[in-house]
Amino acid sequence: MQLIMLIDMDYFFVACEELRHPEIRGRPAIVGFDPKKGEGRGVVMTCNYPARKFGIRSGMAISAAYRIKPDAAYLPIDYDFYEKMSREVMSVVKAFADRFEQVSIDEAYIDVSKRAKEYDGALEYARKIQAAVKAETGLPCSIGISVNKLLAKMICEDAKPNGVKLLKDQDAKAFLKDKDLDELYGIGRKTKEKLEAMGYKKVADLAKANTMELMDQFGAYGLEMQRYANGIDESKVEENYEVKSISREKTFDADTTDIPTVTNAIAELSKEVGGEVRKNELNFKVITVKMRYSDFTEHLKSRSIRRTDELSELTRTAIELYTRYSSRTRKLRKIGVRVSELGKSHGQKKLGNFLK
Ligand SMILES: [Mg+2]
Repeated sequence: MQLIMLIDMDYFFVACEELRHPEIRGRPAIVGFDPKKGEGRGVVMTCNYPARKFGIRSGMAISAAYRIKPDAAYLPIDYDFYEKMSREVMSVVKAFADRFEQVSIDEAYIDVSKRAKEYDGALEYARKIQAAVKAETGLPCSIGISVNKLLAKMICEDAKPNGVKLLKDQDAKAFLKDKDLDELYGIGRKTKEKLEAMGYKKVADLAKANTMELMDQFGAYGLEMQRYANGIDESKVEENYEVKSISREKTFDADTTDIPTVTNAIAELSKEVGGEVRKNELNFKVITVKMRYSDFTEHLKSRSIRRTDELSELTRTAIELYTRYSSRTRKLRKIGVRVSELGKSHGQKKLGNFLK
């Protein structure tokens, strides 16, 4: 039997902020754009459960949240900090996995089929993971356990916040039956409306729908949707290959458009990345420069080169990517240098030993 878990951090950005601002605990708190006394643009990125009690939700306009709860704690988005906490969480989780797939900054699937053979063992195992994450990072998470990724994700919704839930194979049909269409993974508002127009109301209706009719309307996705409605998902927990890279980032003390300041930072970061490459007897084929602007938009520019471990080549290419593609008008908040498509230059060191 396959045993899959989804580990999903609870109200992640706000939970991170609660670590360093304990005074906001238990109070409605929102991470998002500056509300500017109700005039601000942009959205709520995450809010905690006390804020949710007032009807505030992530994705909501920040001005709308402010109208509901002007005295909530409003905190600016600090991706650097959340990424750092995410790396800590993921390294804890990874140690519990046969296979590990990070799907976003705060979610990862793990395959634990070899480690937790039975359902009872799996529940206990998940509680152990949850406790380890809490003990080592201070952050709460919820865990859904089932026989595939789809069901693990859906049962995880029921486990929130700070819960662990198991959905057995034999219970999947009953669990899915009464769900609304848009509770099924992959179905958004538009698809739901279309399905309703076709006469389907619940996931159970979709499960026994006429497959040809679904495929007529939605193509291959129609078939996939029906398989989901029946609890079938054969996708594997895939180890993330794109994280097999080495990168360094720098946030400027003050947002800047000054070219020498930025190129100096790139040279410094390249040196650190290059040092890591050499230390691990690697080479690389792709160089990426990440530019994050003061409005939090982010641009990535990459170039493939001849496989090398040369620092001079890395530095030159990274600076070129920046000078060629950066915005001249917007201020840079952060710059990052990354190498990927790593290979071994000589020696036989194992990649797994140092990859994040
Ligand atoms: Mg989450």
